[in-house]
Amino acid sequence: RAKSAKKSFEIYNPVFDENTLERLFLTNSLKQAIEEDQLTLHYQPKLCLATMTVSHAEALVRWQHPEKGLIPPDEFVSIAEKTGQMAALTRWVTKAAFDQYLTWQQQGIVINIAINISAENILDESYPDFVINLKKQYQLDDNAITLEVTEDAVVDDPKQATKMLSYLRDNGFKLSVDDYGTGYSSLAQLKQLPVQELKIDRSFVQQLENDENDKIIVKSTIELAHNMSLSVVAEGIEDEYTLNWLKEHNCQLAQGYFISRPLPSAQFTQWLETTHY
Ligand code: C2E
Ligand code: CA
Ligand code: CA
Ligand code: CA
Repeated sequence: RAKSAKKSFEIYNPVFDENTLERLFLTNSLKQAIEEDQLTLHYQPKLCLATMTVSHAEALVRWQHPEKGLIPPDEFVSIAEKTGQMAALTRWVTKAAFDQYLTWQQQGIVINIAINISAENILDESYPDFVINLKKQYQLDDNAITLEVTEDAVVDDPKQATKMLSYLRDNGFKLSVDDYGTGYSSLAQLKQLPVQELKIDRSFVQQLENDENDKIIVKSTIELAHNMSLSVVAEGIEDEYTLNWLKEHNCQLAQGYFISRPLPSAQFTQWLETTHY
């Protein structure tokens, strides 16, 4: 009896557990989602602290799933990465962000849009030409679009990353190092990178008010960036204290729930028109 119970337990613990099935399911329908335009971009403003105006926003992808509702990127971007769908996902996001840029431009609103680029896209030799050609086709100005690249993308293959980033910068894209401080890039690597902006990870910003170490880290990162002629964005601003502190310490741009959550484009436009600091 004990033996067969154990055996049935083993059978009950199969290769395809619920998570795996969920993953398989999501993998298949993610492909479909990309093809059928079930993805959507939300936009989160980046507030310029010197002028208290907004002329930058980050595009953040969501999946409007027919049965599951709005799925956040943390639940499917890694699946896209693991299943070779990152190239397709990023191309979809890029095109949607460019479309939105033009729509806003036609309404007289000039917003630099930031797109997230994953480590996989850096190793994808054809992404740079894709995005450069699209920029030409859409006749976008230089610095209309920022590409946010995470530190791990740079650490994995610094040579290839530097090559691709230089190419993109030379073709009029603004480049930003995302999640700065969470990866393992050295100062030597950072110095080599052709980027214009550092984005301080929200883990150093969210609890800034009550954490002296966070203050020291953020303050010295701002100074470091400025010494290297880079601008600085802080993300994860959840309270007024942090916003004011960052302003006093000459951080250029601030992004976080205290300013606004990421919004669908129509709500973003409305927010722009009704919010004054
Ligand atoms: P990220 O690039 O670091 O984006 C910032 C994330 O922080 C967003 O989460 C945003 O909603 C959230 N956030 C902003 N302000 C606050 C705040 O004050 N407090 C807190 N707790 N969170 C805040 P989201 O939209 O869920 O995206 C999560 C991650 O998914 C992104 O992190 C990025 O790594 C990835 N992701 C999102 N969209 C894309 C995309 O189009 N392509 C790629 N490759 N990755 C994407
Ligand atoms: Ca980002
Ligand atoms: Ca980030
Ligand atoms: Ca992140």
